[in-house]
Amino acid sequence: MKTIYASFIGKGNCGKGTQAKILADKYNLKMISTGSLLREWALKGDDNFWAKKINEDIDKGVIVPTALVFYLWFSKLLNFDIHQGVVFEGSPRMPIEGQAMDEIFNWMENNHFFVFHLNIPDEESLHRSSVRRYCPKCHQTYSLDIDPDITHCKDDNTELIIRDDDRPEVIKKRIEEFNEHVVPTIEFLRSKGVLYDINGVGSIEEIAEKINQIVEDKIHDNN
Ligand SMILES: [Zn+2]
Repeated sequence: MKTIYASFIGKGNCGKGTQAKILADKYNLKMISTGSLLREWALKGDDNFWAKKINEDIDKGVIVPTALVFYLWFSKLLNFDIHQGVVFEGSPRMPIEGQAMDEIFNWMENNHFFVFHLNIPDEESLHRSSVRRYCPKCHQTYSLDIDPDITHCKDDNTELIIRDDDRPEVIKKRIEEFNEHVVPTIEFLRSKGVLYDINGVGSIEEIAEKINQIVEDKIHDNN
């Protein structure tokens, strides 16, 4: 049985976090979320040089340097049971990160490597962030599309906020960065035969089912 390595990329709010978690739960895979790891690091506060720089990048919507991303990946990966498999969320972003992933997973051998691109229009990315509300206590997110009147967290009653990186100017910057860096990464991964384009507009269940079908087909093809 080969090990599953999967990666989810797409514009802000394309649903990659949700779909990554569904796949990880289904196949009992470990998760590496680059965005969450960076936000965790940023919590060390402005006295910490690295945290301060990362925080500034997140606030501006720009991509952090690749070396930091590699550090985050490997600080997790080296401590995992590699036979369990891993889902990456929000990586790779730069072509060099795509090349590194493709190289390492080929080198490790005996695995299936998938990169799912959840494709949504720019307007959808902007819309979803404008209706997103965030609980600063438990980090849960809500959408006004689903809960139009929600003001407080359902679990801990904390007042919900708009996260800084959901502001329209930040989302626009992230879309620019996506077109400049992630699109070439997608084309590289496509040339390697590991890229799967998924329409990211639709119900969570529908999209999860498409992804699951691709994974199932691949597992049964090659074993
Ligand atoms: Zn909460």
